[in-house]
Amino acid sequence: MADGVAGNDYSDSNRAFLQAFMARSTMTFAEAKPVLAAIFSAHEGQPVSADDVTEEDLHSYINAANTAISPFDLEIRSTLPQLRLDQQENESTPSERVYALVNTTSDPVMQLATTYTADEIAFIKRILDAIFDTNNTRRSEAMVVSGIQAIQLAKASTDSTRRVSGAATQQTQGGAAQSLTMSQAEMVLKQLVEDGWFEKSRKGNYSLSPRGLMELRGWLVATYNENDEGARVDKIKFCAACRDIITVGQRCENRDCLGRLHDMCTRNFFRMRQAEQCPVCKAPWSGEKFVGERAITSMNNRSVQNNRRMTNTQRESDIGPSTQVTSLAEDGDESDILSSIHCRRKHFQTTAMTLRLAGAHERAEGHVPYSSDA
Ligand SMILES: [Zn+2]
Ligand SMILES: [Zn+2]
Repeated sequence: MADGVAGNDYSDSNRAFLQAFMARSTMTFAEAKPVLAAIFSAHEGQPVSADDVTEEDLHSYINAANTAISPFDLEIRSTLPQLRLDQQENESTPSERVYALVNTTSDPVMQLATTYTADEIAFIKRILDAIFDTNNTRRSEAMVVSGIQAIQLAKASTDSTRRVSGAATQQTQGGAAQSLTMSQAEMVLKQLVEDGWFEKSRKGNYSLSPRGLMELRGWLVATYNENDEGARVDKIKFCAACRDIITVGQRCENRDCLGRLHDMCTRNFFRMRQAEQCPVCKAPWSGEKFVGERAITSMNNRSVQNNRRMTNTQRESDIGPSTQVTSLAEDGDESDILSSIHCRRKHFQTTAMTLRLAGAHERAEGHVPYSSDA
């Protein structure tokens, strides 16, 4: 099929493909098929079916595109989405590799500057801090931010004692970032999802998308795997099987162990081994300690049980509930925050609604990076 593209000749077909690619934030093979079929049809002067497009065709076009765009520090990279096992089982089609156009040199400021204002980027950094720092602790590697929490981050942080990646930037470069209104924050979140930077789960939690992870990989490691004193911390962890960043998957029972595996990587990984053991510390692998949204959903269930048990204890016996309280405090630090957020939800919804009715959106119109009208 790719015979129209001989050797290193960069043709109109290649340009058309790159243009189509740039008009989207990401592409899968399935999405590329009709695009390439249209290009082949135009080139060959007769209809080519999408079914005749092979994965080799796609690779050949991506290789040609990468050669053409590398002088601009751009590269098309690919990753597999970090699907959970139950997601894979529910979906009839196997998970598809996602291709994304990545700026190989940049951090979020450079990436987002053409689409978002400085204050919006500062807001996005606060969200990234929430995802990769606040909500990514030794006890709970949720690596998501709830919609409510994200909207609360509309307010620029004045707390300089907290370790925040954006803080230095905000304070040293052209003054402190201004807060966004809640409706502005909502618009930015929506835009981030539309642009393919963030994903929103069914439960309403935001996480960094495969594209975002591909683009920000280097920056995430540099920003979150070192603390203020320059000492190494491992906020960003990697799957022991595929070596890609892990934000959804399973973790070792041992909280101090760095053993992590994507759900889909566990299958092949353990198939080739005698026992299901942690790839790092060799402890038994339960498959019930999670990275990602399930880290909070399973913890919430547990703390609900703890709450219930505590109530029963108080009601049915005189044994002090102190042990229960202790275990609740140990395991429930994040969920306490969640429940306090929950209490304020109603208030925020009302406020957000009022703001929306007031129609106070003033999103700067800008060009989405990589989209091309030309
Ligand atoms: Zn993996
Ligand atoms: Zn381990």
